[in-house]
Amino acid sequence: MHYSGSVYRPPSEAHSLIVQCTLGCSHNKCAFCIMYKEKRFSINPLEQVLGDLAEARAYYPRIERIFLADGDALVLPMDYLLAVLDFIRDSFPECERVSAYATAKALMRKSDGDLETLRAHGLALVYVGLESGNEALLAKYDKGVTAEEIIAQSLRAKAAGMTLSITAINGMGGKEQSERHALDTAAALSRIKADFVAMLTLRVYSGTPLHDWIERGELTMLGPRELAMENRVILQHIDSDGSVFRSNHASNYLPLKGTLNRDRDALIAQIDKALAGEVRFRRAVELGL
Ligand code: SF4
Repeated sequence: MHYSGSVYRPPSEAHSLIVQCTLGCSHNKCAFCIMYKEKRFSINPLEQVLGDLAEARAYYPRIERIFLADGDALVLPMDYLLAVLDFIRDSFPECERVSAYATAKALMRKSDGDLETLRAHGLALVYVGLESGNEALLAKYDKGVTAEEIIAQSLRAKAAGMTLSITAINGMGGKEQSERHALDTAAALSRIKADFVAMLTLRVYSGTPLHDWIERGELTMLGPRELAMENRVILQHIDSDGSVFRSNHASNYLPLKGTLNRDRDALIAQIDKALAGEVRFRRAVELGL
């Protein structure tokens, strides 16, 4: 198998075969993100990817999930994606799910018919980053797309029959914009009604614009209690019946998991217990901070 540089995947792909179709992210500008900073975006040769899949087939007797990396595999041309998906369908009949990260821009470049074709050929799940429902924050962080565009593209992926996982990031507004970020994110998530909602926590890495903003005092990071309160506001205002809500990523101080809207009160009660000191927040050191 060919792997180049750091390889990232969502937590729910921990047991998946990771196949690197692209290197890096075609956007690579978000002000908080360091995932692919060491890589210049490029597309791996199709023969290499098919060779990797053939090698994995020869080695592993059973592969149920395959994740197409890196950051933005959906940006690949249709003939490339279909060749990969068809190879998987023919060589891994036991595979239940092929998934990939998808930026809103990559989804925009695909027609409705393209998305339906990709779904029909096996692309079952896409991970889309909303990060925040607040337009000013998305612009500040140089997300490259608006919340309205992310909502529209997410709904197109859903309409094509794909399972949709949306990520949002606790703390993106800092103390200054926490409530606005929470309310707008809850509103956006309520419109998208994704199958999965994954809450991450903002982390700061040196060399990013976010790091500079904090150094200059333009943005004040939230602590564990404030992040929990922000999550509480999101949960109070979200209406996304049937969505699995998770904040159990390695970056989260208070792991939460439930199904909306059914478990909303129970999730809020967990937050309230933590705020009352009855449940322990994970310590920064446990999160590797
Ligand atoms: S689109 Fe995703 S991977 Fe690319 S820079 Fe932004 S957060 Fe990072």
